[in-house]
Amino acid sequence: MLWIAFLTAFTQVGGLIWILTLMLCKFRNLKKTIAFPILYLVFNLIIIPPIAEYFGRVQLPVFKENLKPRNLFYPLLFRNYVVPELNKLLIESSQNLVNDNIKIVYLDANFPFFDGFPLLPHRSHNDGKKIDICFIYKTKNGKITDEKPALSGYGVYVKDKYSSQSCIKKGYWQYDFTKYLTLGKINDLDFDTTSTKKLILTFISKKETQKIFIEPYLKQNLGLINYNKIRFHGCNAVRHDDHIHLQVK
Ligand SMILES: [Zn+2]
Repeated sequence: MLWIAFLTAFTQVGGLIWILTLMLCKFRNLKKTIAFPILYLVFNLIIIPPIAEYFGRVQLPVFKENLKPRNLFYPLLFRNYVVPELNKLLIESSQNLVNDNIKIVYLDANFPFFDGFPLLPHRSHNDGKKIDICFIYKTKNGKITDEKPALSGYGVYVKDKYSSQSCIKKGYWQYDFTKYLTLGKINDLDFDTTSTKKLILTFISKKETQKIFIEPYLKQNLGLINYNKIRFHGCNAVRHDDHIHLQVK
């Protein structure tokens, strides 16, 4: 039961796939450890995408050069589903940014089904309209790259010392919790101010964009103070100086 709850919390449909595996193995003489990964992949790649589309969510591109997940963990755990409007916005934005050599790398989006089913640990990624996007970085030689400092894409902040001055001081302990979720700092890169600003401005230029969350000091440092679509997410969330949160209307 615990395993089913765990799979459901982190992949939404994984728990159901486990139940199907148990049923299948009861009727046929199969090993669960072999049947489950096969069944899981079949559901992930073939069965779930068309059903989710029928219910109004599409899977984001996985192997597109200009729009891709930080790693395969996101599509494999069913965490890259969005409403068609957000999919279109991201594809268009990625095309707009080709000449700037900027590639959109996404993190957690939403699960395939049901409005109100949260994609943990995010509170608001529950309706297909939200997605987290990586900042743009450059190498130590100043060359733009689509690599990111953290393996997961979360938890490496632009300004390391910032947290102690803000929500943490007010007692919101979870505010820099993402520092534990890097899964390893694997690349030593510099934050690319110019390209990240271009990326955010491209999102802002789309009429479907409702709001964007980044840390207030970044909004100021990037010269985006006049854009009211860029908001502060509040101390109940986690800090947003390691990624951009984008949501559509
Ligand atoms: Zn988010």
